[in-house]
Amino acid sequence: MKEIFQLFKLTLVQKNRLALSFLFSIFAAFFTYVFVDLVQPIIDQMILKNALQAGGGKLSFLHFLFKRLQTVEEQFIWLIPLLLVVVIFGKGIFTFFASFFMKSIGHKAVKDLRDDLFESLLYQSMDYFDHKPTGELMSRLTSDVDKVQQGVAGSMGDLMLSALMILALMGKIFITDWQLALFSLIITPLAIVPLILFSHQLKKRGLLNQKKMANIYNLLHETIKGNKIVKAFTMEKFEMKKFFQSTFSYFKACLKLEWVGSASSPFMEFVGGILGAFILIVGTSRIARGYMTPGDFSSFIMAIFMMYTPIKRLSRANNTIQQAVASYERTQEVLQSQPQIKEHPGAYSLPPVKGRVEFENVSFSYDNMMPVLHDISFEVKPTERIALVGLSGAGKTTIINLISRFYDPTSGRITIDGVDIREVSLSSLRSQIGLVTQELILFNDTVSKNIAYGLEDMPLEKIKEAAKAAEAHEFIMELPRNYDSSIGEGGTLLSSGQRQRLAIARALLKNPPILILDEATSALDSESERLIQIALANVMKDRTTFIIAHRLSTIHSADRILVIDKGRIAETGSHEELLRMNGIFRKLYDLQFLEEEAGT
Ligand code: ADP
Ligand code: MG
Repeated sequence: MKEIFQLFKLTLVQKNRLALSFLFSIFAAFFTYVFVDLVQPIIDQMILKNALQAGGGKLSFLHFLFKRLQTVEEQFIWLIPLLLVVVIFGKGIFTFFASFFMKSIGHKAVKDLRDDLFESLLYQSMDYFDHKPTGELMSRLTSDVDKVQQGVAGSMGDLMLSALMILALMGKIFITDWQLALFSLIITPLAIVPLILFSHQLKKRGLLNQKKMANIYNLLHETIKGNKIVKAFTMEKFEMKKFFQSTFSYFKACLKLEWVGSASSPFMEFVGGILGAFILIVGTSRIARGYMTPGDFSSFIMAIFMMYTPIKRLSRANNTIQQAVASYERTQEVLQSQPQIKEHPGAYSLPPVKGRVEFENVSFSYDNMMPVLHDISFEVKPTERIALVGLSGAGKTTIINLISRFYDPTSGRITIDGVDIREVSLSSLRSQIGLVTQELILFNDTVSKNIAYGLEDMPLEKIKEAAKAAEAHEFIMELPRNYDSSIGEGGTLLSSGQRQRLAIARALLKNPPILILDEATSALDSESERLIQIALANVMKDRTTFIIAHRLSTIHSADRILVIDKGRIAETGSHEELLRMNGIFRKLYDLQFLEEEAGT
């Protein structure tokens, strides 16, 4: 019950539509009632032509209506068929509106939910994405939201309409003959029990089916993504076998589901038949004893049979709602998780900076267990070019992540132009930092839109300038539609070197006082790297630049080099100074020298 209320709250936002839907459901239920009511005069007056049947339809709504209209015998011939048409039309049209409005509430609620989820994802900090697999987050916004929609749109409407219909039909049978109604109610659980058993089975098998389907989906995903690896290792047969096993298992699960599914309807009809037989025996004896007319009895039976569909709907709605609630709770998990990186309540906008960056005793750990950075302190003057060098996993990327406040230090602080970066708004901080990383993300859009990402109304001239500085202009002009060419999903239509240069152009166009290049030239061959070096040398001139590069030749021109080792600054100095020191840098240098010797 609590769950239903939670979902119901989603619909409450749209009170008007909800009220309309409720109103229409009441009308639909009313017309259902009148429809069953009509059966009595059809049988008694039209077929048996026995208006004098004692007490027929005495308490019915139509009886009352006919009395008011002062209808006489002959008029029934055309009045009843006319009423039948009107009633069926009314029932249909109100059912339609009730269900349409309920569905529209569902879709609107779900649109809002999806938007909220997306917004909350956008503002989560990086640690959140470290811990949540992409697929899981995607399914929150797609399949979970869909389930909520089915729950809200389909089942809440069903719940309301079906409950009102059952109420109307119950009313009808009790008014017609309360004793027979009581008797029927006592034996109906006989039909309800198998219905519940069946729906339980269906639910269980359905879930199993979904799991098997997910398995197929995963295999498909892996194989498509990894098609290169599959080919390289000639694993086609192996993958095929895995896939066949998986589809076979799904096939078996489907058969079991269909077995239960196909059996349920005939079986329920059979049980219904037994019930009908009992009611028939008792009912005919009541007609014989004059408690009811054949028409009353027909109305009664009709009402009982018409209850079947809404009852089935209710039991199905129950399942859908349970699922919707589970999905709803999962979406709330996303909505309620607070970003680790929050703006200070009094955060102000960081004014344009000169670019003095200072780390003061900064320590950091991703999971509060394993420290990754230990007591890092250094100061970078405006326009200084600083290089970070060290083995993979030393903590270089982590250091520069802290400057953009993707994470906050566990202890110590970072200042820019003397201002603690935790005191300023995230957007004012990040808009002054240009970042080119190893994981370049390009969006499925045109070249110029990708370079000008986040910068609206950027004139093409400026975009071209940035592209030229990043040595990208030439290859762009060779693309079919130059700056308007689409680069494909994730930039797949470009080579990795080209993607890299677009990313550099993007960072340059932003013209930030602080530029961070994290392995930005690693995907390039030595020749294009050399070209970019020249370009970068120009753009680095008047801004603070952090360069992380695997190739030590790249950082030759840096003003100062920090050698990072296991999360500590091990050595610092210029290229020559560090070589003379004969420490870690020297070792890295010699190692690379050997590598290059071996490579060429
Ligand atoms: P580098 O850039 O020098 O290669 P990183 O700064 O990327 O090194 O990584 C430093 C250490 O932090 C490594 O031990 C790495 O495993 C760990 N690390 C990096 N990113 C994460 C993360 N998102 N969550 C947990 N640990 C991480
Ligand atoms: Mg790194």
